[in-house]
Amino acid sequence: MRLTKLVLLIPLLWLPFGEPSAAELELQPVTAKVYAIVGELGNRSPKNLGNNATFGFVVTSAGVVLIDSGGSYRGAERIHQVIKQVTQQPVVTVINTGGQDHRWLGNDYFKQQGAGIIASARAVADQRARSQDQLIGLTSLVGVEGVAGTNPVYADETFDESFTFTLGDTRFEIRHSGHAHTPGDSHVWLPQQEVMFTGDIVYVERMLGVGSQSNSKHWVEAFEAMAAHQPRHLVPGHGKATTLEQARKDTLGYLLFLRAAVAEFMDNGGDMSDIGSIDQSDFHYLLNHETLAGRNAQQVFTELEWE
Ligand SMILES: [Zn+2]
Repeated sequence: MRLTKLVLLIPLLWLPFGEPSAAELELQPVTAKVYAIVGELGNRSPKNLGNNATFGFVVTSAGVVLIDSGGSYRGAERIHQVIKQVTQQPVVTVINTGGQDHRWLGNDYFKQQGAGIIASARAVADQRARSQDQLIGLTSLVGVEGVAGTNPVYADETFDESFTFTLGDTRFEIRHSGHAHTPGDSHVWLPQQEVMFTGDIVYVERMLGVGSQSNSKHWVEAFEAMAAHQPRHLVPGHGKATTLEQARKDTLGYLLFLRAAVAEFMDNGGDMSDIGSIDQSDFHYLLNHETLAGRNAQQVFTELEWE
């Protein structure tokens, strides 16, 4: 009798956590001393601790620079574990590429490790404006235990458009060129290695999200400013490190398609209630399209009404 109960309980206990391996962070070497940490492409969950995005780090001769601190305190700790597989050097600088939760809610952890944090002033303003909503959303998806210890901590150093620094042997050029997925998105360019970290300016493999905090028109411009560097290696905000070609296809291609398709729909007198009739099947190869395609079209519709 007891045994039967136990056997029934085990699958129930595992259920909310999904496949054990699905949420592991994957370490992906990009080029010498440069790495991507690839989180899962789906939503935040108790298993991934809010790390449903791609992060990156660079091992310089004077310590580690981390690009984006993860979606929670415990998520940041997990990112640090991955870094420690490569180097015992401390994380001395953290760059937040934007205001989305997984770009910055791990700041407190790395600050406690002694890191300084850099972000655009617009990203910090966005973080401040949305921190409570983000924590509420995160708690509902990751759970009280997963979110434990997560406190909003903001950048020590902010900039308006660009910020350049050299740590040890490595030069970093951060640029905020406009409102993209979030108001304060920046890219991080390593001119010596020709590596580009894009944050949420680039999504590959999965469909990007145009939300109320996004601006699809300026997102296109932010993409072009990033692409003008012709990066040899590109670490996206979501998906594995890749090429500029794939970023053009999965992000720029989709944004341009969506804006044109919604504009045509409106020109033909289309009503918001019928927005689902726009055919987005050319982009059904991107994960999460079932949940995002319609919402993205709705958001662009609202934007175009005001353009
Ligand atoms: Zn993101």
